[in-house]
Amino acid sequence: MTINQIINNYKKNNPEADTIMLDLAWEFCQKAHANQKREDGEPYIQHCLHTAFMLTQIKADLETIIAGLLHDIPEDTEYTLADIEKNFGKEIANLVEGITKLSKIKYRGIERYRENLRKMFLAMAKDLRVILIKFADRLHNLKTLESLPLEKQQRIAKETLEIYAPIAGLLGIFRLKWQMEDLCFKHLYPEEYKKLTYTYEIEKKLEHNQYIQKIKNILNARLKQEKIPCQLTSRFKHLYSIYLKMQNKDRKFDEIYDVFALRVVVSNIADCYKTLGIIHSLWRPNPARFKDYIAVPKPNGYRALHTTVFGPDNKPAEFQIRTNKMDEEAKYGIAAHWYYKIKNNNDNDQKKQPTWVKEVLKIQKETENTHDFIKQVKFDVFHDRIFVFTPKGDVFDLPEESTPIDLAYYVHSDIGNQAVGARVNDKIAPLNVKLKNGDLVEIITEKKRNGPNRDWLKFVKTATARNKIKQNLKSTIMDNIKKFIPNIK
Ligand code: MN
Repeated sequence: MTINQIINNYKKNNPEADTIMLDLAWEFCQKAHANQKREDGEPYIQHCLHTAFMLTQIKADLETIIAGLLHDIPEDTEYTLADIEKNFGKEIANLVEGITKLSKIKYRGIERYRENLRKMFLAMAKDLRVILIKFADRLHNLKTLESLPLEKQQRIAKETLEIYAPIAGLLGIFRLKWQMEDLCFKHLYPEEYKKLTYTYEIEKKLEHNQYIQKIKNILNARLKQEKIPCQLTSRFKHLYSIYLKMQNKDRKFDEIYDVFALRVVVSNIADCYKTLGIIHSLWRPNPARFKDYIAVPKPNGYRALHTTVFGPDNKPAEFQIRTNKMDEEAKYGIAAHWYYKIKNNNDNDQKKQPTWVKEVLKIQKETENTHDFIKQVKFDVFHDRIFVFTPKGDVFDLPEESTPIDLAYYVHSDIGNQAVGARVNDKIAPLNVKLKNGDLVEIITEKKRNGPNRDWLKFVKTATARNKIKQNLKSTIMDNIKKFIPNIK
């Protein structure tokens, strides 16, 4: 890796940019880490370069890339944060300081998980870019994990899987999430990883590739006929997600048909729907697998049309249809769209932020003057709490072990009173199921149903739900009594 690769990659998206600061940072970096080596014998500066390069890949801004280059200086060299501030200014120094603080968080088992998560978010509230740098740093460390003692390898991989990857997912930076997960998978479950790589890469890939090519040829020809300009690509699901699917559903590899997806990128939303129509006219769709994330985006802002059809030879094929802009957003998450504009306080972009990010930013504003986030009593959002998403894209934080009924009353009393069922992560679930962090929960209501079920009191977790159920039961009883004895008050 060289500094020129970083500069070139950055200039791809910012052809006009002045990168003299980057050159200066590189000079400083070389001087600071001179003669230092990594565990694997590589010059230390390679780690700095790789970190900075990954940041250019997720389209980070120049300050973030420079801070990526300098991120280990205060911790590992004789130079201090004050030196960085003197040479590169307050903004970059603040980013590096954030990283230095974050590196003090160590994984000490699952019981500390939430505490760590909380600290991560605190750091993030200060500047989301700190998290991006930390992710890039972690990713390169995972790539060079082999040179560490086995115990340390396992610890880092576990910590990444439990803390970093979920946060990358919440922020919508799937590119980093998947890379981190596959690397952790390799270190934590080496046998399974080897087996799966073998079936996936060697035995099946050729077969899949031929099938994909066949579909591409047919679809490309049709889209050309219809004069819809598009890019048609395919991608294989990452290994860890296949492994999880096999675990969860206890299925064999052959039964997992969505190991690859075809991606159609078109120029506008109208063409997305036109393309969908064409695909459905070519092959019979599986209605249960059709998702319109353009009309109803995912909580993290993800937009696309998803459909699975019975393709040539009646074998299933998954399509993801989206515009260029949606494609960028899906790849780079917060790094790609609204985040950088927060600085400019652009109202339109603020609206696109997930609710929880707004919350974190609000808390950050409120605590700006205290310089003491950790002690902020108000900020106990993440303690013993889970996040659940609704199909509208709202995020609710609830106590652990909350149920769909808790959520229903949290959203609105009427939703609670009319609840007849729930869908958790697109699957029908009982109303007393214990929700998990990150669940997508839809409450199924029926207008005719008016009033709660007494049995719900046995399992609800929140005081809000409990009180509202009791209140409603009482008033229903009173209504019934009034019906039979009209004069009672
Ligand atoms: Mn580092």
